[in-house]
Amino acid sequence: MKKNIAVYPGSFDPITYGHLDILKRGLELFDKIIVAVAYNVDKRALFTVKERMELIRESIKGNSHVEVDSFEGLLVDYVKKVNARFVIRGLRAMSDFENEFQMASMNRNLNKDMDTIFMMTSKDYFFISSRTIKEVASFNGCVSGLVPEIVDKKLKEKFAKK
Ligand code: ADP
Repeated sequence: MKKNIAVYPGSFDPITYGHLDILKRGLELFDKIIVAVAYNVDKRALFTVKERMELIRESIKGNSHVEVDSFEGLLVDYVKKVNARFVIRGLRAMSDFENEFQMASMNRNLNKDMDTIFMMTSKDYFFISSRTIKEVASFNGCVSGLVPEIVDKKLKEKFAKK
């Protein structure tokens, strides 16, 4: 097992500067990070998995240390498949903690070799979530400076069609 690969899983619906900040800081710890978009049956997504992956690709601007992928099913199985040992998750407020703690503990129960590394959100991004970005954008509010330009553009296109 290589120690230098980490998986950064999530919905990324869509990717924000909060996600990108965690990714950038994660690259200080790992040689390669796989951003893995989850097919989530519970959440109603605005962007398709393919669109989300494309937006991530455009946002990382060809960084060769980042790979973009998607996965279905259990995260532990995906992590094993790509031969990784670490998972990165970002932590915003206390509300994130409970859920993340539960997930990390369950994953560790399923695979003792896997560890979740938590990175604290930066002060400039603690209030950003994909959900609030979508909400603001749906009412034509300004989200520039919170998401990459391409995401801002695609959000405008999506909501113009609705
Ligand atoms: P999920 O649907 O699995 O919560 P998200 O796409 O919302 O996935 O987020 C993926 C990961 O990025 C999660 O660990 C989440 O806590 C983290 N994250 C999201 N937004 C921010 C932010 N603004 N600052 C730090 N971490 C964040």
